Amino acid sequence: MTTFRVLPGRTIGILGGGQLGRMMALSAKAMGYRIAVLEPKTGSPLGQIADMEVVAAYDDIDGARQLDDVSDVITYEFENIGANVAAWLESTDSFPQGSRLLEISQDRLKEKQAITEAGINVAPYAPVTSLDELKTAAHTLDYPCILKTTRGGYDGKGQLVIHGADELDRAWEELGSSGPLVLEKMIAFSKELSVIFSRSTAGEMRAFPVAENVHRDGILHQSIVPARISVETERKAVAAARRLVKAFGLVGTLAVEMFLTEDGTIYVNEIAPRPHNSGHFTMNACETSQFEQHIRAVCGLPLGKTDLLKPCVMVNILGEHLPRILDGLDEFPEAHLHLYGKDAAEPGRKMGHLNVTGSDPEAVLEQIRTSSIWRE
Ligand code: ADP
Ligand code: MG
Repeated sequence: MTTFRVLPGRTIGILGGGQLGRMMALSAKAMGYRIAVLEPKTGSPLGQIADMEVVAAYDDIDGARQLDDVSDVITYEFENIGANVAAWLESTDSFPQGSRLLEISQDRLKEKQAITEAGINVAPYAPVTSLDELKTAAHTLDYPCILKTTRGGYDGKGQLVIHGADELDRAWEELGSSGPLVLEKMIAFSKELSVIFSRSTAGEMRAFPVAENVHRDGILHQSIVPARISVETERKAVAAARRLVKAFGLVGTLAVEMFLTEDGTIYVNEIAPRPHNSGHFTMNACETSQFEQHIRAVCGLPLGKTDLLKPCVMVNILGEHLPRILDGLDEFPEAHLHLYGKDAAEPGRKMGHLNVTGSDPEAVLEQIRTSSIWRE
């Protein structure tokens, strides 16, 4: 069988016009590819730099057909592609990633089932479709637990921590009408970790160094690399991710978010079949960035080395941080600023990130902690 390969000079079509697509495109253009984007609005973070824009909804097959007409390979930068478009793309010969991982990662229940079937731990959970089911599930799982919509949630949206039985009615009032739900036991983790894997159309596989992630209000705040974990834990985290990569027959990129508990147990929290916010450190700290690697993987080129060249802390820049970082750039003279070209700097909206590299990660963390830019 010949390997699917799309050489530089050809056109990569990207479904979704957000920052992940933009950063994929910046890498791809550096390598000489042309870029087409499908996105409902013009001027998106990716639209601003793409060679061609198809303006269409994510479930518009005509739009997908237009994208396919101008593209030699199609990839996606987010997982909420309509099932109809995903199925249609399967029928073309330009969609090497396939749609199975889209289907799994769009639905938290399917995701947990698939991860469990691959032999990897997830937090104890139960599906919830009524207040009665919520009460029974909460009784079984015990408190604290966390109620999540099965579809469409991101950055902590569509989820609610429940501390006791007296909060069940309110939680149901808030989320009961948002479709099927899942209740999870809260894991008292000591750290959150993530592993990003790439696998090319030729079957070549590489993992990036494990990231240690700190969230604030359900949104990623920092990734610290190298993660402050033992060699054994690092190995366990990568092995768990590799097992998922193999079970899912990945082509492209898989980000695996994990909880690590004090006793060394790893639970997989969620997966994303694309480059991930917690892999942005690779842009300035690794031999190859996750975006370049993704392009190499879906175009069937040899994968790059993933070695960490220097310690790095990635800090997200949300809407409320943007004016402060622009005023405070001199505080981080050697850091690398990445902004996504979004105009409305709304609170909580991801506007960019700062990669702060340094030989002493603890000193970098202290500098970030004491800076007024990310004050709580
Ligand atoms: P999102 O799709 O919004 O990223 P996640 O399921 O990853 O949703 O939840 C966001 C964050 O909320 C996690 O990174 C973690 O900090 C916290 N969280 C979610 N589920 C649990 C859980 N079962 N136990 C402990 N913390 C959790
Ligand atoms: Mg998450």
